[in-house]
Amino acid sequence: MLTARKARPAKLCQYIKADGNFCRSPALRRRRYCHRHIEQRRRECRLARYRTIAKLRADAEEEQKSYVRMADVMLKSPPLKKMILKYFDDDTLRDTFGLNPDGSRL
Ligand SMILES: [Zn+2]
Repeated sequence: MLTARKARPAKLCQYIKADGNFCRSPALRRRRYCHRHIEQRRRECRLARYRTIAKLRADAEEEQKSYVRMADVMLKSPPLKKMILKYFDDDTLRDTFGLNPDGSRL
């Protein structure tokens, strides 16, 4: 004999809209959000990742420029120039300070 089955209540999307209310659309199975908000959150996460990477790159570039400026100052003083050439290997001189092994600019 067939018995009537009750539909299980669907979990609702937990996305909080700009007005502070929940979305309240049915969430996808085993997920916290509806299809629309899963896609939206995926886009937001991708954008946040991109912005973080862009910020790290900008910071690294700024740090690189500060090393180059520091090298410019140090090269004006013969003892400091001797020290920088003595204590840093060729790779560091080139990649960090933008210098040739003899202390000239690349
Ligand atoms: Zn939603």
